[in-house]
Amino acid sequence: MTAPAPLPEPAPDQAAPAAPAVPIMPPTMPIVLAPSPILKARARPVQASDAAGDLAQRMLATMYAAPGIGLAAPQVGVGLRLFVIDLKHDAETPEGRAPMVLINPEITRLSDQLVIMEEGCLSLPTHFAEVERPDMLRLRYTDLAGARHEIDADGLLARCILHEIDHLDGVLFIDHISALKRNMILRKMAKERRT
Ligand code: ZN
Repeated sequence: MTAPAPLPEPAPDQAAPAAPAVPIMPPTMPIVLAPSPILKARARPVQASDAAGDLAQRMLATMYAAPGIGLAAPQVGVGLRLFVIDLKHDAETPEGRAPMVLINPEITRLSDQLVIMEEGCLSLPTHFAEVERPDMLRLRYTDLAGARHEIDADGLLARCILHEIDHLDGVLFIDHISALKRNMILRKMAKERRT
């Protein structure tokens, strides 16, 4: 995001509002709820012409407002291979934030060791389930500045990366659990939507 433009001088007959010394937050985006065709579709790679910077800033604002620790572009209705993550608990204040923007991510290594962890998703609010996934991974991705990175991740970061990459491939965490549990959650979602 570029720095916000300076405020124009107020006209003489207008009361000048006290200018707050806070950065202007980009507007949030509506989060797509399951079931939805965009959440089942495979997203395409991000290209230079895609204005990923603006999208990523709006996705971060949306994720912080939700609040959540990860958000993938298909969840805001954009079929691009991009997601944002911030595992820091104290995301309410800008100082407490540690945002990551991951573009065109590619897993290059996955551990054989699997681990069970409870997951939730901003597209399935208030629903949680235990999901088994690899414990560790190696990931290649591009950042907003166009720099390539390769990182090793474990614990919550690995979990969050695998969950978000699933979104880019049209997969939800409920696709990893039994059909019985999945249908129970989807039925509740449909019922909540009607009320
Ligand atoms: Zn999710």
